[in-house]
Amino acid sequence: MTDAERDERDEPRTAGAGLGLHDVVVRYDGGGARAAARRGASGTTAVDGVSLHVGTGEVVALLGPSGCGKSSLLRAVAGLEPLAGGRVTWDDVSVGDVPVHRRGFGLMFQDGQLFEHRDVAGNVAFGLTVGSGRAGRPERDARVAELLALVGLAEYGPRPVSTLSGGERQRVALARALAPRPRLLLLDEPLSALDRALRERLADDLRAALVATGTTALFVTHDQDEAFAVADRVAVMDAGRLRQVDTPGALWRHPATRQVAQFLGYEAFVPVSVAPSGSPQVDDVVRAATCPTGSADGPGGPDGPDGLVAAGSLLALAPGALVVTERPDDGRGADPVLKGTVVQVSARRGRAEVRVEVDGLGALTAVAPLGAEPRVGSVVPLAVDPTAVAVVPEDGPA
Ligand code: ADP
Repeated sequence: MTDAERDERDEPRTAGAGLGLHDVVVRYDGGGARAAARRGASGTTAVDGVSLHVGTGEVVALLGPSGCGKSSLLRAVAGLEPLAGGRVTWDDVSVGDVPVHRRGFGLMFQDGQLFEHRDVAGNVAFGLTVGSGRAGRPERDARVAELLALVGLAEYGPRPVSTLSGGERQRVALARALAPRPRLLLLDEPLSALDRALRERLADDLRAALVATGTTALFVTHDQDEAFAVADRVAVMDAGRLRQVDTPGALWRHPATRQVAQFLGYEAFVPVSVAPSGSPQVDDVVRAATCPTGSADGPGGPDGPDGLVAAGSLLALAPGALVVTERPDDGRGADPVLKGTVVQVSARRGRAEVRVEVDGLGALTAVAPLGAEPRVGSVVPLAVDPTAVAVVPEDGPA
């Protein structure tokens, strides 16, 4: 889904509808968050004043490194951890006094937590057989069939869950979580126990299921690709705080700080200024990356007049920002603007990664077409892919 399509999904939402987090704080001392909240103890501050709105029907990913407080925040929203400060609201009304099972929030975890003694249909039906919204049998069976079809397991109803693969188990867990139509679904690293290829496919299927059911969701992950694949907006967390909240495209093009850019995978940061930098190589990359036509695909950030980059900025280069061109004059691909010395070549799916040493820029990861890998030690012409370059403020907020 493109950012424009994501924006369109955003439109019908009203400001306060959905989930509101207002200056949320979660603390732990030796006895856990409950004891810390009771005693007002300092201990570890896992979540440090987070404010965020998740509109009805919106999917937001909480993305950050391990230990940054994502799960603590999710558990606080669910009501599983007490707040040391701030408020959690639904449609602008505090849920602080509402117990976990009455919030109408669904939960899905990394290990699915299926009931081993029930078959697949029995697991999906579970959410429909407890609580106040008890469904009649025909209605329940129809809902189970609908959900199993939604997650691609239409024929799996009678299967014992012990016969399922890891991916199938998570599909069942998703169907079970969606069955009672939760007003908010909270997902804590639901794909991280799966292998990489399966994770990628399930991330797309998970998004499709959330969109098809119009489910409002908060999704915790440490995996950038997963966050980008699943969410309408990505909230980047670090050390208990939110650093940036944006659509995947805007986040990639306009990282607010060097720290966010680094976490997204930008690997090299080169100081630039409006005036010539003193390094012809840096100036060439800036010129090539700063689209003169103002294309939306160009690097974002604090652009100065005439597409130049404001003084005191950093040019952030992601792996693949430099592309090894076959020959400077073969008429194919982008114009080479730099030369680099090859220090290492590694084969990847469909391409080669080439470590190159470039004067003024240091060691960078360029890409080359498979079959056209250069030799280690050779000097190669390099073009710039502006979609893998961003401009970030040098002294952005920490
Ligand atoms: P993430 O989900 O981003 O990996 P967590 O929310 O699990 O991060 O953890 C945030 C911080 O809170 C970490 O420093 C972690 O060690 C601490 N923490 C999490 N749970 C507890 C707990 N029950 N008791 C004490 N500290 C905890």
